[in-house]
Amino acid sequence: MLYNSTENKKEVVSASQAIAQGISKDGGLFVPQEIPEYDINTIKDLLQLDYKGIAKKVFSDYLSDFTAEEIEDCVNKAYTDTKFGSDNPAPLVAKKYNGIDANILELWHGPTCAFKDMALQILPHLLTKSLKKTNDGKDAVILVATSGDTGKAALEGFKDVEHTKIIVFYPAQGVSPMQKHQMNTQEGSNVKVCAIEGNFDDAQTGVKKIFTTHEISEKLEKNNMMFSSANSINWGRLLPQIVYYIAAYCEMVNSGKIALGDKMNVVVPTGNFGNILASYYAFCMGLPINKFICASNSNNVLTDFINTGVYDKNRQFYTTISPSMDILVSSNLERLLYKLSNDNDEFTKDCMSKLKTEGKYEVTPEVKDAVSNAFYGGFCDDRATKETIAKMYKDENYLCDTHTAVAVNVYDKYVQETGDKTPTVIASTASPYKFSKSVLSAVNEGNDIPDSEFDMVDMLNDITKVDIPAPLASLKNKQVRFSDTINVEDMPNYVLDSLGIK
Ligand SMILES: *Cc1c(COP(=O)(O)O)cnc(C)c1O
Repeated sequence: MLYNSTENKKEVVSASQAIAQGISKDGGLFVPQEIPEYDINTIKDLLQLDYKGIAKKVFSDYLSDFTAEEIEDCVNKAYTDTKFGSDNPAPLVAKKYNGIDANILELWHGPTCAFKDMALQILPHLLTKSLKKTNDGKDAVILVATSGDTGKAALEGFKDVEHTKIIVFYPAQGVSPMQKHQMNTQEGSNVKVCAIEGNFDDAQTGVKKIFTTHEISEKLEKNNMMFSSANSINWGRLLPQIVYYIAAYCEMVNSGKIALGDKMNVVVPTGNFGNILASYYAFCMGLPINKFICASNSNNVLTDFINTGVYDKNRQFYTTISPSMDILVSSNLERLLYKLSNDNDEFTKDCMSKLKTEGKYEVTPEVKDAVSNAFYGGFCDDRATKETIAKMYKDENYLCDTHTAVAVNVYDKYVQETGDKTPTVIASTASPYKFSKSVLSAVNEGNDIPDSEFDMVDMLNDITKVDIPAPLASLKNKQVRFSDTINVEDMPNYVLDSLGIK
């Protein structure tokens, strides 16, 4: 199977090239030229497999230049019970909200307690194998822009991985104290972490600019290095996320919630549109999905896009209690536009260049209809997010994080509006302890909250008796290693300095 750029169909690469490069030279994103199709008998066979088994099948259908042994090795190293706490890295928990069944897909049992681990525990293995196939002897420099969770998950995945270096940029005021502490205490000899004065979009634009600046790439080349990406613009990030939607479907069937062939809905708390896009790819492969419910916080650019066909980032940016969704430029929407326009690279390129120059584009009526037939867009603000956490905790004794709460809230709105009772899977993207302050103030309203992050964690644990994930508990005693803050304009020099190739 080959991959091409969303902005130029003639730019064709192998799977390993797509993963090693991360992004196409023309700035487009790599997409599979054909999507493997799973008929009902294929899905029936998957019902017998565990998570790793499903992962191996899906990877082997997309990564045609990897051997079965290579894929087996990557999957076995990534999804171990030592890293994810059990043999099932993505457990499905049955709860109710407002009287309606909500099947919560907990994707945060990995080493950094956010769903990003599902992809970033395997990406380094896929990437090092891809590098061996495509770029003899070059070291990969992974540049990451993060709204909090990707940074830590990438650092943890790539630390001390041979022939890689990783540099993470995060918005100085845009991450939770726990997220910041997780990153600034990162261990490993090949890692670097730096705050920027700006928001996530500034960080992401800065990184994209470095990737596409010819001069900088040449300097790396001379020093036997090349850039790659661990953001969800890299196909190697999206592919592992397709797996858990298929696994969740199998579990819905195996547990008798639906019959084989019945449809389910998915609800995804969305920022960069990577996670929800992975569910859409699963659907394109043949997984029976009825509706994709795209949940946003007050940065509701996607809600408006789904409802109107106009994407307009010229609006106020809000810093919310669900910071990993504080995004106005959702990079992966580019892949959806390409798909829904029947692989029209010129159309996609045109939209993306309008986004760059005017901050805005409008899709054709056909694409608009395709979007709003498949997707439902909704959003909720911080107050509603906290109310949802409180209600879920009070009614079900279940503690969810701020991002997951946005998804639950929007799902409730969807059911009220449409009356659709299709069994539904809600993606839960982080441990509540990553956002202790907001979660604590939601379940402990009116009472004083301690100042220190770790006292908040302990208090939340005292009140709810929900276990603190071990990786967060152990952070308390870790040394801070990184404290740089720079302006966005200085990012290129910071990178070259860090690599010692000024
Ligand atoms: C990254 C992240 C999201 C958003 O996911 P996208 O793939 O960027 O849409 C939601 N919740 C949490 C906790 C995250 O870390």
